[in-house]
Amino acid sequence: MIIVLLGPPGAGKGTQTAALVNRYGLTPISTGDIFRANLNAGTLLGLEAKNYMNQGLLVPDELTVRLVEDRLAQPDAKKGCLLDGFPRTVFQAEELDKILAAQGLAVDYCLLLDLPDLELLTRLTGRRVCRACGSVWHLTFSPPPDNLICPCGGEIYQRGDDGEAAASNRLKVYQAQTRPLAAWYQKRGKLKTVSASGSPERVATAIQQALDG
Ligand code: AMP
Repeated sequence: MIIVLLGPPGAGKGTQTAALVNRYGLTPISTGDIFRANLNAGTLLGLEAKNYMNQGLLVPDELTVRLVEDRLAQPDAKKGCLLDGFPRTVFQAEELDKILAAQGLAVDYCLLLDLPDLELLTRLTGRRVCRACGSVWHLTFSPPPDNLICPCGGEIYQRGDDGEAAASNRLKVYQAQTRPLAAWYQKRGKLKTVSASGSPERVATAIQQALDG
């Protein structure tokens, strides 16, 4: 099974990934995580992506598609994938279809997590993340320890693109370039829409109902 997880930044795509991956036995592939890992490791790819990411802009399609093509060719992708944060443009969606078709595969579902912009901005600017294990905290909703050290020992920090300016830019980019994908997948009969407001547990239940019918 191949699921595309679509939704604005801050909708909780990363949070819902674990439950989906366990339930359907999928390999999670997050382009944002791959770019961040490269950025932290100081690779050429990380350097190329850094300026786009820190401004809240999309990394160019060509670079992103090549990265996903390589990732999908790895053995663990064969059992099925959950794509988090890819595709983000219609061009990427078309390229993904071509990559999958070459292997006799296709996207099964596009799961859209939907939430109003105002709520998203609050979620994004308050978000804090553990640099080591990736645990997510929120200054208001699930405050991190005062010393900003995660129970795993890692440093809890604010992502470079979660500041107010970059975060609002990311929302604009989402509306202009990524939201149109919902209609694109709807036309192909693959769209499942779920409200992303409320607790992560509520959203997980709604997702399960949407996918299992
Ligand atoms: P995310 O963690 O999914 O919010 O991604 C963080 C940043 O990585 C985005 O704001 C983009 O700069 C970049 N990025 C992630 N996925 C893509 C994609 N599919 N296309 C272009 N840029 C991406």
